[in-house]
Amino acid sequence: MNRREFLETVSAAAVLPAISRQQAAANEWGSPVFDLHFHLRQQPASNIAHLDGAGVTKANLLTRGAALEQVKALQATAPGRFTWFNSYDVTKPDAEQVLTEAIKAGAQGFGEMKFHVAADGPELRRMYALAAELHVPILVHFQEVDHFENEGTWSTGFAKTFESILKAYPKTTFIGHADAFWANVSADYHNEAAYPSGPIKRGGLTDKWLGDYANLFGDMSANSGNNAMSRDAQFTADFLKRHQNKLFFGSDCSCADGHGGGVSQSNNPAASRLAGKCVARETLGLLKRSASADVFQKITWGNVHKLLKIA
Ligand SMILES: [Zn+2]
Ligand SMILES: [Zn+2]
Repeated sequence: MNRREFLETVSAAAVLPAISRQQAAANEWGSPVFDLHFHLRQQPASNIAHLDGAGVTKANLLTRGAALEQVKALQATAPGRFTWFNSYDVTKPDAEQVLTEAIKAGAQGFGEMKFHVAADGPELRRMYALAAELHVPILVHFQEVDHFENEGTWSTGFAKTFESILKAYPKTTFIGHADAFWANVSADYHNEAAYPSGPIKRGGLTDKWLGDYANLFGDMSANSGNNAMSRDAQFTADFLKRHQNKLFFGSDCSCADGHGGGVSQSNNPAASRLAGKCVARETLGLLKRSASADVFQKITWGNVHKLLKIA
């Protein structure tokens, strides 16, 4: 081996691991994957560890409050792999100002919005209006049943009031998420459990509204999304096909390594079906089994690129 060959071998070895990791990420699921619902982690490396471990190419960081420096540092570490949303206590008088500044600084949406307020209350209404004004989507956590004692509920009244919101804010892009959003794919749901089981009764509100309202989209993350899509294989295949332009893959996974390591469902005993598992992997596998390659590609990649206007 001469000097030039030696140097080429060395540089190939230095470059290869990164490339093959990326290729593996794209290949494991047959096409690249974007995780819409990924909570920013303190250490830059732990964010990347989850993406690489689960075979995820890019992710949208959900942040709360001041996060710009952390986001920038992570984006510099892994160029092109992270977009971000910002959230802020909607009961505070400066919420509109803070969120407007975040969008100006590069955030591409509001979320996740998870507060102990009503879905049709004044606090969230001003956020819905601001999202429309700034042309960014708003991701809302709807939950009516506590996961642990005294947790409290979040963006309450989904089934009773959210249709009036969809009508009142036609220019707002809503992304629904969490227990109440997903339990209401079934018409027989009445807030009796966080994660109902059994076959889906057709005609559920979420299913209907995704069809009826152009401004409503669905975030498939967490046990809530996975559980809803695990109940009734025939329903799931049909649901994914009908709403193929309105759904986004997301994980909301807190496992350490993209393989279920660490603590993946803390403080949520009702979600024990996913304990020790990576939610990203479980839901990607489920989507892979339930949808055509075309539909899978839209839900895990194409739709979010359109939403965030990424070329
Ligand atoms: Zn949530
Ligand atoms: Zn995971």
